[in-house]
Amino acid sequence: MNVLEINNLSAGYGRIRVLHGISMAVEEGSVSVLLGANGAGKTTTLRAISGLIKSEGSLTLDGVNINGLRPDRVARLGLAHAAEGRGTFTDLTVEENLRVGAFRRHDKDEISADIQKMYEFFPRLRERYQQKAGNLSGGEQQMLAVGRALMLRPRVLLLDEPSLGLAPVIINDLYDALGRVKAELKISMLVVEQNANVALEIADYAYVLESGAISLHGLAKDVAAHDGVRAAYLGDY
Ligand code: ATP
Repeated sequence: MNVLEINNLSAGYGRIRVLHGISMAVEEGSVSVLLGANGAGKTTTLRAISGLIKSEGSLTLDGVNINGLRPDRVARLGLAHAAEGRGTFTDLTVEENLRVGAFRRHDKDEISADIQKMYEFFPRLRERYQQKAGNLSGGEQQMLAVGRALMLRPRVLLLDEPSLGLAPVIINDLYDALGRVKAELKISMLVVEQNANVALEIADYAYVLESGAISLHGLAKDVAAHDGVRAAYLGDY
């Protein structure tokens, strides 16, 4: 079953069209990755899905139409969006940020249990639970942004370039944790990445976006083996 379905989606900014009728899906419990060069429209795709910009075409979450709904309504229906640039509350502590992520929930005991679970996925956050988010390293802030989004207990998690600006060793830690999140929480994810190597490792399915259109899609292992993808996104010549 597809948790998220995107059909013939078009979007842009003012008169500039960025997306030209793209179709994608995220199957329950699976990870789909959206690859593409700078400016291809990856961020625009996520912003259209979560209702931050207007779009035409069909968007459904668990079969329910979400196109035209405000971002807070879309979030309430189970879509969490960890945007590029992290967006943690810098003046709040790590733990306060995680609690903010659960602000719609009222199950106090389970919220505390979920915070502990986030510390298991991201041990660096446990070590720094009383520190202000603004004092964390870039990698730790990214982990916190993911943890905070997961505290919503979403049906689908959208992640925008989680590896951006991080050192390779931190990228590996982050993706290891995302792999555990996928295995243990069975969470469905749509991950936008320029760093195709790491993303394809945890992905089940992959899409390649070029100039606002899907140029290639398939099982992640097949896309990873595709010559054109290897040359363009995996650093092979
Ligand atoms: P990147 O990896 O650089 O973020 P991307 O694939 O996510 O690339 P988008 O950010 O979706 O690409 O941008 C797609 C196109 O839309 C680009 O040509 C960009 O200049 C344009 N664009 C993005 N945001 C705006 C905006 N707020 N107003 C006008 N044009 C925009």
